[in-house]
Amino acid sequence: MRPVVLVIAGHDPTGGAGIQADIEAIHAAGGHAVTLVTALTVQDTTGVQRFLITPAELLQQQAEVLLADIRPQAVKLGMLGHPDIVEVVKSVLDRLPDIPVVLDPVLSSNLSGHLADAALPHALLALLPRTTLLTPNTLELEQLLQGHTLNHLFDLGVDHVLITGGHRPGSTLINELHHAEGCLWRSEITRLPGEFHGSGCTLASACAIGLAQGLSTLDAVQRAQQYTTGTLQLAHIPGRGQFIPWR
Ligand code: PLP
Repeated sequence: MRPVVLVIAGHDPTGGAGIQADIEAIHAAGGHAVTLVTALTVQDTTGVQRFLITPAELLQQQAEVLLADIRPQAVKLGMLGHPDIVEVVKSVLDRLPDIPVVLDPVLSSNLSGHLADAALPHALLALLPRTTLLTPNTLELEQLLQGHTLNHLFDLGVDHVLITGGHRPGSTLINELHHAEGCLWRSEITRLPGEFHGSGCTLASACAIGLAQGLSTLDAVQRAQQYTTGTLQLAHIPGRGQFIPWR
């Protein structure tokens, strides 16, 4: 049986990030993605202009109909956009108490443009008791911590945090996997030249399919990072802006 991952995320028309990135990464690892689209965005490979959040009541109904039919083996959360969507996600996770959850706390595009209401970082904290793996970049982490130390997130109930260093300057990209006892794994990768669109979505979805396939969090993260690096090495430029990973 093919493992099923429930993806709850936004749509990016370029196909580089968002739900299309998630579907492609999950498919590439042999899984099937079932999808709830939280938002439509207006963007190209040079930046985000605008987004529109799906009505929460519609998303709730989609989730109920879908989950009455299909049981996923893992959940991947991407752009949630607004606290109302977080409420829907909470009720979805209540229906799926025993499966791993990967939360990519999408707050803005790595180019320009917000992808979330100002109240979202605080609202996302309510999902941490159900989060197996949180995958913030260093900018998102700062917004989630609000001056607290990383331990705050573990106190709120998250199991593992994969901090990605793609937004930091420098020729070496450092990713770190933490759990409550400290740093579990650290990787240093030589940064590829260019700007990439959708690398965070690709990495988080690749982690989610690994967990759905029964890998430990460490094994899922290591495999996902290797896979993501490969998609960046093969990336192409379909427009005027960033590279898009080849999944
Ligand atoms: N989700 C959507 C819908 C997006 O448009 C973006 C970025 O523009 C992201 C997620 C995050 O993308 P990345 O993987 O580059 O962090």
